[in-house]
Amino acid sequence: MRRICVFLGSNAGRRPAYREAAAALGRALAEQGIGLVYGGSSVGLMGVLADAALAAGGEVIGIIPQRLVDKEVAHHGLADLRIVTSMHERKAQMAELADAFVALPGGAGTLEELFEVWTWAQLGNHTKPCAVLDVEGYYHSLLTFLDHTVEEGFMRREHRDMLVVADSPAELLGKLAAYRAPTVTKWIDGHER
Ligand code: AMP
Repeated sequence: MRRICVFLGSNAGRRPAYREAAAALGRALAEQGIGLVYGGSSVGLMGVLADAALAAGGEVIGIIPQRLVDKEVAHHGLADLRIVTSMHERKAQMAELADAFVALPGGAGTLEELFEVWTWAQLGNHTKPCAVLDVEGYYHSLLTFLDHTVEEGFMRREHRDMLVVADSPAELLGKLAAYRAPTVTKWIDGHER
């Protein structure tokens, strides 16, 4: 695994554990020689993650749209900051560069980014793992809701179980390395078209 893309809050959240987890993951990536791809910002958990990876000597690639640079949230300490024209271009580049995708605690932006790459995986557009780092149970209610989507016939169990869940960076990196993509189609009633 050469690079991992991390989606996470542009706010830092209420609990110190969120910052601690972002910093621990940044350090773990650097120590294992895995490059970080992320949204290129200096704010919130995003900045904590990037600073920790940089301080530990890791490779960090930030990809940020010009509009966010204009709002002065770009991380100017990055040797590799790629400025793109749109959120769509950013996500396409992130998806291309990374071998796995991880969401830490975050809000709508984090969820949207995770759900898009996970949907692409369900459709078979790529076979890279998608994961959440469930810091202090932050994602518990979302994971329960995802079980509900299976029970109600909107998602296959195999697709629900594709989402890797871990509560520490060490567990996360181990599970990502062991991941094998399922081969079932997205449609439960067998339609292929
Ligand atoms: P949120 O979870 O809503 O704070 O959104 C965080 C995610 O959306 C990150 O993974 C970024 O890719 C993107 N994003 C949202 N706000 C910013 C920001 N101020 N700077 C850079 N990226 C952001």
